Order: sequence, then C-alpha cells, then structure tokens
Amino acid sequence: MTLDAAWARRWIGEAAAQVAAAKDGLTELDRQIGDGDHGINLDRGLQAVLAKLDENPPGADGGPVAVGDVLSLVATTLMSTVGGASGPLYGTAFLRAARSAQRESLGASAVVAALEAALEGIEARGRARPGEKTMVDAWQPAVDAAVRAADDGGDAVAVLRAAAEAADAGASATVPLVATKGRASYLGERSAGHEDPGARSTALLLRAAVVAAEA
Ligand code: ADP
Ligand code: MG
Ligand code: MG
Repeated sequence: MTLDAAWARRWIGEAAAQVAAAKDGLTELDRQIGDGDHGINLDRGLQAVLAKLDENPPGADGGPVAVGDVLSLVATTLMSTVGGASGPLYGTAFLRAARSAQRESLGASAVVAALEAALEGIEARGRARPGEKTMVDAWQPAVDAAVRAADDGGDAVAVLRAAAEAADAGASATVPLVATKGRASYLGERSAGHEDPGARSTALLLRAAVVAAEA
C-alpha cells in the first residue's frame, strides 16, 4: 500500500465516519471532565473538511499532488471550524504534518517525520508535556512506537499501525491521571478516573489512518 494523497483522502473519510460514530461517546467523556463538546466539535470540523475536499479536491487540475496538499486543507478547515482547545491543536498538528509531507508518497521514515512534526506542533501550541492528561498522552507514545517500528525495519503501514496501537494504549492510560492542562485541570484531583477525550480522539484518528491504508 502506498501512502499517497488518495490514501490521505480515504483517511479523512474514515476519520470522519469514525468520529461521527463515536461523537456521543467523546462528548460524554468531555462532559465528565470538560464542557461536553469534544465529539460535537470534532464531528463538525471533519464534516466541514469532507465538504472542502469535495468542493476543492487537491490534484483536480491533473498535476502531481502531495500528501501534504490534502493535510493542509484539513488543517485550515479544522482551525476555522472546530473551535475550543482542540481546533487549534489539531489544526497545528495537521499543518506541521502537511509541511513535513510535501511529497507524493510517504515511506516509513516520512511517516515518522510527519508524526513527529504533528506532536511538535501540538506541544508548541498547548505547552503540555506527557502525563498532563491531554492528547499529548496519545501522541507521544504514538511517535515513540513509530520510531521503534521504523528502526525495526517496518514499512510505512507497519509504522502507522504501531503508532495507532500505542495511541490507543496511551489514551486508556490517561484514566488515572490528574489533568494539569486544559479545561479538565479546573477539576484538579477530580479529573482522575476519566479518560481524556482528546487522547481518545487522537487514537481514533490514527486508527482511521491504518484502516485507510489497509483498504
Ligand atoms: P475545549 O476544552 O475548549 O472545550 P475540546 O473539548 O474540543 O475543547 O478539546 C478538549 C481536549 O483538548 C482535551 O481532552 C485535551 O486532550 C486537549 N487539550 C486541551 N488543552 C490542551 C493542551 N494545552 N495541550 C494539549 N492538549 C490539550
Ligand atoms: Mg470541550
Ligand atoms: Mg468547549
């Protein structure tokens, strides 16, 4: 499987479908430790991205299309439609990944670089470190696992799969953490015992990338 612009387009379609299906669950997580809008925010953003991709498909002029061309449309649309904390965070993640992925297809090391760029963007924007019960707690293990998979000789899809599995475990591991960034930090110790919604949605997005690569 080649991770090209067509894959990126399938990824976003799959991500939108998965987030739509998980919308109520994500919103319920955010109701426990935030303001109950995370699923709604992300669903709105991804539906807007799908509309933009249909209106203005990258590569429609017949020229070569980079993976990053799709990702930058995702970035700008998420920034302008998602709102809240997660809009600028995911927007920055996709923008940095887009800049890193200015090529027609991604090999294993390019997938690692794009994931690293996304995490750097999130950290630059939100100033959260691992252990603060945010989406960083899914992204950091995802990047670490991606680096290991590439070092072990895995191909691009194996790297992506390792990242998605680690993000899923990272999201689950946010349950006992006490939040020190974002809205959940207002709850202090009472934020423990609930999964972080942004970490869970990160795991969903990365899982969708794998599903698109296996299609
Ligand atoms: P809001 O909190 O503004 O309503 P959302 O509900 O859409 O925004 O997103 C909340 C998620 O954003 C949290 O679950 C967390 O994962 C993430 N988040 C919040 N603040 C930060 C931060 N400073 N760094 C990284 N992620 C953050
Ligand atoms: Mg919220
Ligand atoms: Mg909000």
